[in-house]
Amino acid sequence: MLLRAAVEYAAAKIYAPVFEVIAHKYILHGLGKDKDSEWSFHWHGHHKTVRKDGMLDEDYFGPILANSSAQKEIKALAGVTLLHLLLFPFFPVFAVTTAVHAGKYYYKHYKCHTDVEYAFDHLPHHVKHHVVDQDANWGVTSDLVDRIIGTATEVDDEEWARLREFYTKRAERARPRIEAAAAERKEAYQQKLKDSLENITEKLYSFLPEALKSA
Ligand SMILES: [Zn+2]
Ligand SMILES: [Zn+2]
Repeated sequence: MLLRAAVEYAAAKIYAPVFEVIAHKYILHGLGKDKDSEWSFHWHGHHKTVRKDGMLDEDYFGPILANSSAQKEIKALAGVTLLHLLLFPFFPVFAVTTAVHAGKYYYKHYKCHTDVEYAFDHLPHHVKHHVVDQDANWGVTSDLVDRIIGTATEVDDEEWARLREFYTKRAERARPRIEAAAAERKEAYQQKLKDSLENITEKLYSFLPEALKSA
């Protein structure tokens, strides 16, 4: 029983980062380079914004549900997670470990694009994917698979320090604008929610019998 769980766990730990690399390379970039594709949000949206705003992505600021690009990422991750959870009756540890990995993927990616310090300190390979070589460094949660298949980019210390300074400054310049826009989106989103709640209340009220309304 324990051995089986250990094997499932180990299999998921190998499988998940490999899946991540394949999905990133062939789906998000491969299919996503076509502007009309469902996946275009990654290449045409995320990559473009991140280079411009020093690793920050405005889509991760403000209410996520009010933002179509962040929503698409969450939907894709939820879909992938649900598919893998179908394996739960047969391989419970494998299914749960891949689901946890999906959560970790979202958190690390989100953190990397809202906190530049974190990005350079903890996900240097993803920084390289965005600002050094966009056709390499496919792993997000780790660079393990890239190191094995030879797609991890090497950057010397001096160049790394230069990139860090350059993109940190960009992020500092972009942050006030991004935060102001996020605050505006939040306000609009809250207003929309309020309006739809009022709408529902009015509709429900209109269904009430006259006698009750005057009571
Ligand atoms: Zn990418
Ligand atoms: Zn990214």
